[in-house]
Amino acid sequence: MRLLPVLLLATALTLVADEHAAPASKAKAKPQPQEHAASATPDAHGAVPAADGPDSPSAALAELAAGNGRFVAGKRVRTLDTAHDAAMRAALVGGQAPFAVVITCSDSRVADALLFDQEAGRLFTIREAGNAPDLQGIASAEYAAEHLGSKLIVVMGHTSCGAVKAIREANGKPLPGNLWALQAGMSGLLESTPHDPNEDTKAHLARLEEANAKRQAQAILDRSTLLHELVASEKIWIVPALYNLASGKVQFFKPVSLAAAAPAHH
Ligand SMILES: [Zn+2]
Repeated sequence: MRLLPVLLLATALTLVADEHAAPASKAKAKPQPQEHAASATPDAHGAVPAADGPDSPSAALAELAAGNGRFVAGKRVRTLDTAHDAAMRAALVGGQAPFAVVITCSDSRVADALLFDQEAGRLFTIREAGNAPDLQGIASAEYAAEHLGSKLIVVMGHTSCGAVKAIREANGKPLPGNLWALQAGMSGLLESTPHDPNEDTKAHLARLEEANAKRQAQAILDRSTLLHELVASEKIWIVPALYNLASGKVQFFKPVSLAAAAPAHH
């Protein structure tokens, strides 16, 4: 792991030298690497503590919000440095400790690493159309939370989601091929968020996209005993979110609560 401090230090120096670099307040998001370098030892699962990874759910959420703010402003920092890609790869060979899990849609316009401005090793991403994870998706989130130490699970929908649109248009009729599985994963959405005669299609779709992110976040908690326990002990938060394709901004909602959750079953 000796390369990681070198990488971060070199990155910091590059930023200082770059006339387009973010102001000091932004650059401060990258603490000095020496602080954490000594603890970078792989555990049994190959997890390596991130050199400057957030160490609590609230800090993880703040880091994603800050990264999204940089993206919206056109001032990405962490994902701009290509000169140290080889060093970054080398530093991560020994293991990973992604601070956040991102469950989002497969839509090609939702580039999670860029829109949160996080380089390799920082986000554990699960993508399925409609950000509706099946059991394997939930198992992937469990793995990251239990074995890799992730502090936050963001379930992120987005505007103009084709999956949500397809579900709405099908209106309960089976979609072709294996798309029935997508419908099953989002079952109950239309019933939970019925069309209001006073709204147009666009407005209804926007409400469905938000409702779907919130429902999927709650469903993950309901379907996972392991995540239920981690949320109960406040080791992890599960936060619904919505990405706006036009502005690039991510809106975060309140973390899902155990009070609203059904008891988890295996
Ligand atoms: Zn989508």
